[in-house]
Amino acid sequence: APTKARKPDWLRVKLPVGPAYANVRRLVDEHKLHTICESGNCPNMGECWGAGTATFMILGNICTRSCSFCAVATGRPSELDLDEPRRVAEAIQLMGVKHAVLTSVNRDELKDRGASVWYETVVQTKQLSPATTIETLIPDVKANWAALDTMIAGGQEVVSHNMETVGSLYRLVRPQGKYDRSLEQIRRTKEAGKRTKSGIMLGLGETKDEMYQAMDDLVAHGLDILTLGQYLQPTKRHIEVAEFIHPDLFAHYREEGLRRGLKYVESGPLVRSSYHAERHVNVPI
Ligand code: SF4
Ligand code: SF4
Repeated sequence: APTKARKPDWLRVKLPVGPAYANVRRLVDEHKLHTICESGNCPNMGECWGAGTATFMILGNICTRSCSFCAVATGRPSELDLDEPRRVAEAIQLMGVKHAVLTSVNRDELKDRGASVWYETVVQTKQLSPATTIETLIPDVKANWAALDTMIAGGQEVVSHNMETVGSLYRLVRPQGKYDRSLEQIRRTKEAGKRTKSGIMLGLGETKDEMYQAMDDLVAHGLDILTLGQYLQPTKRHIEVAEFIHPDLFAHYREEGLRRGLKYVESGPLVRSSYHAERHVNVPI
């Protein structure tokens, strides 16, 4: 396997510069917020922050899980920060973002999985910025469907939950996750009347047939929008890249996904679940 290969040209990105970037940087720091852009070492920070947008990560920056691809620290999270919803809402207002993406760490130790803070964050963001649309990227609620109901009740336009990879790689990539449980979370989100979205990282060793199967499963569980991007290893301690997927194969997967019944597929090496997220609010579903 071409594991140790150098990053191909199509993964080269622009450096973060400019006044909009500096403004996001200042607001994130002043409001003591966390972003998955930074925690995940996202290659698109120059583009997104330069355009005045970021993906906020709520419920702290320590996760109870240890997914092998993820750069967020694992451990015992600190106490719930009940002021966090207010600070997130205020930062979004000051940034003037038209479309906000919110995500969180997993808080498996909390009975409600952090649902009350999720709900408050969406509601307070809508209060301060009524014209701002919101996508919430919600982690695995571990079959606490009451928690899911609360998390999606605040008036957000898009509810995403990332599958991250194909079923056969769950043990390696998402050891505390379950493929079928995540599909059920998406199905329940759809049944609650929400616009559904998910993301899969490519280049972890998945086969084409496994990708087709995953897309069929997602369609069968009511998924509307899918994002496909290249996995990049955040540090040497994380799972290695098995393969750099060629842009042509990303394009092929987009066509396959649409053919199989997905409503919209965002597919390319640098695509992240929050990349071009503002487009996903209005695509016909
Ligand atoms: Fe942040 Fe998402 Fe943009 Fe990456 S793609 S910089 S995670 S908003
Ligand atoms: Fe990272 Fe989410 Fe996995 Fe936690 S649950 S380790 S934040 S991907």
